[in-house]
Amino acid sequence: MPEDAMTFPDDPKRFLRTIIIKEKIYPNVKKELMERLSKYPDHRVDSRTFKLINKPSPEFSKWHGIDRTAIRWGPMIDEDKCVGCGLCVVQCSERRNVFGYDETRRKSVVLYPYNCMVGCNNCQVACLWDAIKFPDFSELKKLARDLVDSGIVRRELEDRLSRNPNLLMELPDSLIVRMTKLVKIVDK
Ligand code: SF4
Ligand code: SF4
Repeated sequence: MPEDAMTFPDDPKRFLRTIIIKEKIYPNVKKELMERLSKYPDHRVDSRTFKLINKPSPEFSKWHGIDRTAIRWGPMIDEDKCVGCGLCVVQCSERRNVFGYDETRRKSVVLYPYNCMVGCNNCQVACLWDAIKFPDFSELKKLARDLVDSGIVRRELEDRLSRNPNLLMELPDSLIVRMTKLVKIVDK
């Protein structure tokens, strides 16, 4: 094989972990993590004794009119798999700030589960150690379908468009046909 031939690693996740830890990203994540924890000191926790906050912040108390606490959606961390890289902590937005962090044991914990944005799973995707799990999407999809069927989504959309008319746009017919086909494929 020529010396400059490109090869793919046998285990891409392992390959990425190595880069993250040894090369570029990890020091930056650590810096961001420390900044986040200094800004929100209540997120420094002892992972063995901390008490999770069992209610959402007021701004996240409802999801399209449904009590957030009635919706089963949020991350769960497998402590045995978590290596404490801190990426999930900084991946989550500061407004939601779902995670806490134990600096002594180097573990992330779910501190504000109900602040998790319904349907988001960014932190799960970011966790290269597969330490984060979420409930099955099917339950959530059913809930979303019920919301659409009840007309709530339509009313919210019309309200949003009436307040932001610049969001309204004319789509060429060809694009509408393509989008309709796409929706049918996704809907199957
Ligand atoms: S859960 Fe994953 S992303 Fe979060 S600190 Fe642990 S290993 Fe890192
Ligand atoms: S899914 Fe999104 S909102 Fe929820 S904890 Fe992860 S990054 Fe934060």
